Amino acid sequence: MNSKVVVSLENVSLKYHSLEGETPAINNISFKVNEGEFIGIVGPSGCGKTTILSLIAGLIKPTTGQVLVYGKKVQGPSTSVGYMLQQDYLFEWRNIMQNALLGLEIRGKVTEDSKKKVERLLDTYGLGDFRKHYPDQLSGGMRQRAALIRTLAIDPKILLLDEPFSALDYQTRLVMSDEVCTIIRKEGKTALLVTHDISEAISMANRVIVLSERPATIKNIHEIQLTSEDNTPISRRQAPEFRQYFNAIWKELDVHV
Ligand code: ADP
Repeated sequence: MNSKVVVSLENVSLKYHSLEGETPAINNISFKVNEGEFIGIVGPSGCGKTTILSLIAGLIKPTTGQVLVYGKKVQGPSTSVGYMLQQDYLFEWRNIMQNALLGLEIRGKVTEDSKKKVERLLDTYGLGDFRKHYPDQLSGGMRQRAALIRTLAIDPKILLLDEPFSALDYQTRLVMSDEVCTIIRKEGKTALLVTHDISEAISMANRVIVLSERPATIKNIHEIQLTSEDNTPISRRQAPEFRQYFNAIWKELDVHV
């Protein structure tokens, strides 16, 4: 694996301020992400996972410490980082092609070339015949794929995925995690996935960061090495080592029912 560092958090803390007072969300977080890595971030609900992605995306600034993307301090949103959220946020009144072009349109970058690229992405990932369809004519999985293509259209080098499958039923989730992994690897992206689902993180990521309760600190970082046939999330779930990772992370999360 290439060891060029693309994302780096150095002693990052963040406190939210509101009328009710101060909420420390994350505390002294440091980690590095190498090019081509797929990082899973797990932690209790409300511990600060999304906050970490928002910092990398440049949507918020750290209270202390610094966030670097490609060695430069993050000052605001940039085209090198794409963000995919829980809900697909497709516009119902735009067809799939128009939705996929949205990011480029906002940046004033719709050209014949960029349109061809989006068409290629839609073709490659099974939505070529649905270009003229509207979001409500697509299944949940297809909508999520369209949202991913919209994110890929601006050609970000880093993809942030925030619980991207949580609105989908279990079976679709499994299929989508396979698809998304394949797409991300094929397009040569670096990815950070936030999820509350331990199995999802282990099956998709090469490293899993485990966070504590809020304010989040890093409890552990697991290097995931699984013996699996084709390295897809579904076959990785069958690997003999899978359960050991699951049990270790489950213990660290100290989940109370
Ligand atoms: P997670 O993604 O792990 O569920 P978040 O990063 O979304 O957690 O939030 C961490 C904590 O910060 C939560 O307690 C949440 O209520 C609080 N928080 C998130 N965003 C804001 C905000 N804009 N203003 C004030 N508090 C916030």
